[in-house]
Amino acid sequence: MELMTIGAFARASRLSIKALRLYDELGLLRPVQVDPVTQYRLYDPAQLEQARLVAWLRRLGMPLARIRTVGALPPARAAAELAAYWEQAEAENSARRELAAFLIGYLSGKDTAMHDAQETLAIRYAVRSDIGLDREDNEDSVYAGPRLLAVADGMGGHAAGEVASAAVIEALRPLDTQVPAGELLNALDHAVRRASSALSDIVRDDPSLQGMGTTLTALLWSGSQLGLVHIGDSRAYLVRDGEVFQLTHDHTMVQLLLDEGRITTEEVASHPQRSLLLRALGDFSSEPDLQLREARPGDRYLLCSDGLHGVADADAIGRVLLTVADPDQAATELVALAIANGGPDNITCIIADVVAAAAEGDPAHGSTVEADVPTLEEGEVPALNEAAPAEAAGS
Ligand code: MN
Repeated sequence: MELMTIGAFARASRLSIKALRLYDELGLLRPVQVDPVTQYRLYDPAQLEQARLVAWLRRLGMPLARIRTVGALPPARAAAELAAYWEQAEAENSARRELAAFLIGYLSGKDTAMHDAQETLAIRYAVRSDIGLDREDNEDSVYAGPRLLAVADGMGGHAAGEVASAAVIEALRPLDTQVPAGELLNALDHAVRRASSALSDIVRDDPSLQGMGTTLTALLWSGSQLGLVHIGDSRAYLVRDGEVFQLTHDHTMVQLLLDEGRITTEEVASHPQRSLLLRALGDFSSEPDLQLREARPGDRYLLCSDGLHGVADADAIGRVLLTVADPDQAATELVALAIANGGPDNITCIIADVVAAAAEGDPAHGSTVEADVPTLEEGEVPALNEAAPAEAAGS
């Protein structure tokens, strides 16, 4: 058997000499002999097949360590290993493609996300925001779209609260696109940080707004995954299987006193510091709570400002949520409930019902889709919303 020099072997295998040295060092492809005097590497022509396989796997993008594994296997098992590698590579690439589409849309402010054929859930939502009976302005801001729902309750007196809540909603709005499920919390966290720095910029430009701030409670959907971001005393509730759960924890002084057992539930409503927030978004840094949840068809979500839960007790809110099936009517009744209890504050609520996404042209759902639902592209599952993306101002 005539052994080949590394130069001859490189030419025959179309690998570079440098690559052959590296593969030797890594144990991927060892020369059959190394001349003890010259240290020249010598290869067996029978190794050419192995060398070509290594070259092919490199072109495929397989990491060297994995090539070593595949190269040591008999052909049938090497094939199975390669199939598994490729399946993983395609899954990773598809996740990257999805992330890239989201980032392009997020940075450009356009919804360029591809529709996900796997998406099986949609939301049917209704929004109400009312100035209430005692206030001169509505400092609540709200956004509701097919994938994003957000309530912000601004504070700071006169125009300042409105500026703060509107700026935060504005910073969140680009999230109403197809965010990859694995990025829901990152995307929410990033948007909140953007919102926070937007508020700082506003105060720097107009120092009279110093001290303004806002709560934020928002839900962001991706498939059946649900991201929740929360800061302040607006709330999110979930109705599931006939029960009502509060998903958020108020960042207030009275909640802290309640948690520590220093006051009772009955004392909350009359506590002099009941509106004192321990955390809010403003021209200071403050950490939001983030949660990742699984949404199910049949779930109902309520987002509301304290203008509702500050005056209406949990039982009364729960009764409306459990008995009024139509989201639009339920939202109207919740506002009426706050008004009936004096309505001293601005009242904002969003009700969102999770439904199984309709197949295109499904007559069971088709009738509820408004004729002018925007951006319904070919192949897209109809968005089952009662309204187009809405931002309600004062009543
Ligand atoms: Mn309020």
